[in-house]
Amino acid sequence: MRALPADPAEAMARIAEEIRNCQRCPLHEGRTQAVPGEGPPDAPLLFVGEGPGAEEDQQGRPFVGAAGRLLDKLLASIRIPRERVFITNTVRCRPPGNREPHPGEVAACLPYLVRQMSVLQPRVVCLLGATATRALLGADQKLNQVRGRALREAGRWWFATYHPAAALRSASLAKALEEDFRRLRRLVDVEWGTEDPARWKPNVVQKLFESGQVTEPVEVSRDGSLRLAWEIRGLHPTFRSASAMAELLGRFVRRRESLSPDVPVVVQLEGTDAHGRPVSADAPECVAVHAEVRVER
Ligand code: SF4
Repeated sequence: MRALPADPAEAMARIAEEIRNCQRCPLHEGRTQAVPGEGPPDAPLLFVGEGPGAEEDQQGRPFVGAAGRLLDKLLASIRIPRERVFITNTVRCRPPGNREPHPGEVAACLPYLVRQMSVLQPRVVCLLGATATRALLGADQKLNQVRGRALREAGRWWFATYHPAAALRSASLAKALEEDFRRLRRLVDVEWGTEDPARWKPNVVQKLFESGQVTEPVEVSRDGSLRLAWEIRGLHPTFRSASAMAELLGRFVRRRESLSPDVPVVVQLEGTDAHGRPVSADAPECVAVHAEVRVER
C-alpha cells in the first residue's frame, strides 16, 4: 500500500481513484462505475451501508436512490446535515440484481473502508444493515442483538441499525429505524458534549438516563487507589451495553478527578435482573447495574 499524503482531502481523493479503477473482485465486471463514497474528509460521523443500487451505480454516488432519500429524511429529522457526514458502503460496486455481497467480495473491498476510516478518524460509525454490521463488528454479530445500542470498540463508537432499504419494505422496521436515529442523535450529543472538557455541559449526563435521575457515585476508598461505586437505574436504551457504560463512567471519573489520559481507570460492572438475580450488564433483562470505577495512582 502506498503511503497516504498528509492532506486528508488528497488522501481521500487518492483512495477514491483506486476504488474507481479496482478489479479486486468479480463485482467490477457488472458495474457502470464504482461508488467510493462522499462527504468531508474530516467528517466525525460515518455511515456504512451494504452496496450501491441501480441509481448509485449510474451516478457514482452513494445513497441517491429511494433508500438514500429515506436516509436524507432521517438525517433531517435529527438535525444532522448530510453534507457534514461521510456516506459509503461495504462494497463499492453494485452486486448483480442487488443481491447481498458474498463474503469474499466484502473481504476484498474492506481494506478501502479501513483506509478511509484511518483518514477520516470518525468518532461515531453508524452501520446500516446486517452486511455492514458483520463486516465491521464481526461475522458472528447479529443485527437484532446489537441494533440501537452504542458500542465502544477500538477507540470509537459503533451504532448498528436497519438499512433504509429494508425500512422501505416494512412499516415496523421504518418505525424502529426512526427510533434508532433518535438514539443515534442522543449518542452524538453525549459524544460531542463529553469528549472535550471545554464543551462539557452538565445536562449531557441526563441524556444517559431515561428517567433523568442521576445518582452520584459513592466514594468507597481513597487510600492508594480511588474506588467509586455507582448504582445505575433507568439507563437510556442507547447506552445499555457494557462497553458504552464502561467508556462513559471512565470518562466521567477522569473529568471529575482531572486525570491525565495515561492514568489507568478500571471499570467493573455487575448487572441484576428485576428479581435481584445477577445477570450480565449487557443482558436485555438487566434492570440495574452496580459499577465500580477504580483509579490506580
Ligand atoms: S466491490 Fe470493491 S473490491 Fe470489488 S471490484 Fe469493486 S471496489 Fe474492487
